[in-house]
Amino acid sequence: MSLDNRPVYTGGCQCGAVRFRVEGTLGDASICHCRMCQKASGNFYLPLVSVRGAKVDWTRGDPKRFRSSNAAWRGFCADCGTPLTFEAPDGMALAIGAFDDPAGIAPTIQWGTEAKLPYVDAIPRLPGEDTSADISSAPYLAELVSYQHPDHDTEQWPPEERS
Ligand SMILES: [Zn+2]
Ligand SMILES: [Zn+2]
Repeated sequence: MSLDNRPVYTGGCQCGAVRFRVEGTLGDASICHCRMCQKASGNFYLPLVSVRGAKVDWTRGDPKRFRSSNAAWRGFCADCGTPLTFEAPDGMALAIGAFDDPAGIAPTIQWGTEAKLPYVDAIPRLPGEDTSADISSAPYLAELVSYQHPDHDTEQWPPEERS
């Protein structure tokens, strides 16, 4: 929380070159199935939350932007490629998965359903296993060291021993 009790959210890309800070109330959270969002995220759909009514600061680095249409720009980290923004004339939205605590930002609507991939609705019914369920076939997982930025702001990044 900030001094005047406005909520504060932080996040950034996986490599840590770009970090953001949002102060104020988040707007609508959604997922977009449209083909443009699939391509921009390299994914089945793109989860976004509007920050139209909040104050957004880029606290480390700046996203690079690709103009994906005459109406919108897509921001991403130029170093690691993490998708970060959708920027249209009526405001900006941030990728929910890029927040340090995405669990608190639940989507309330789906957009672009005309392009929804045919298997997306079946995913919750697929068998599920946690990451270490099959450690014998992927023994490197037992000694995995993440090089991603942690889910909180840092004074210096990358850490000195790795830079
Ligand atoms: Zn990055
Ligand atoms: Zn879309």
